[in-house]
Amino acid sequence: MAAAERDWPDGIKKTKQRQAVLTALEGSGNPISAAAICAQTEKAGAAVWLSTVYRVLEFFVRKGVVTKVAVLNSDMALYEINRFQHKHYAVCVRCRKIIPMDNCPMEKFVPKLADDGFQVTGHNLELYGYCGDCGAKG
Ligand SMILES: [Zn+2]
Ligand SMILES: [Zn+2]
Repeated sequence: MAAAERDWPDGIKKTKQRQAVLTALEGSGNPISAAAICAQTEKAGAAVWLSTVYRVLEFFVRKGVVTKVAVLNSDMALYEINRFQHKHYAVCVRCRKIIPMDNCPMEKFVPKLADDGFQVTGHNLELYGYCGDCGAKG
């Protein structure tokens, strides 16, 4: 709770629900799903309904406080605190573990586009496969 208190983003009205969602996000090292956030708020004794969690998340995303990480064709959307750093992830298709990538392979990538006036402002990239645990199991 103290961390959310200290890091409360500027210009955003503080509500119990928003606070609970942000605390859950801060408590997680990796991006987490809305359902996981919901479970987390319940565990913390400040339960927020899943539908409300989604609403709060969409609000935070709009405000730039939270980043939505869509993985595996967005059959699951994950959320994390926006730390204003460019980040990619690898996803294990078996256990769904999310592994952060330390580099960006697109940094030096020059796209060959049919529209040569196209201005690239960002990109998405996801890797999928088997994590060390699942790969070892065969
Ligand atoms: Zn795995
Ligand atoms: Zn990148």
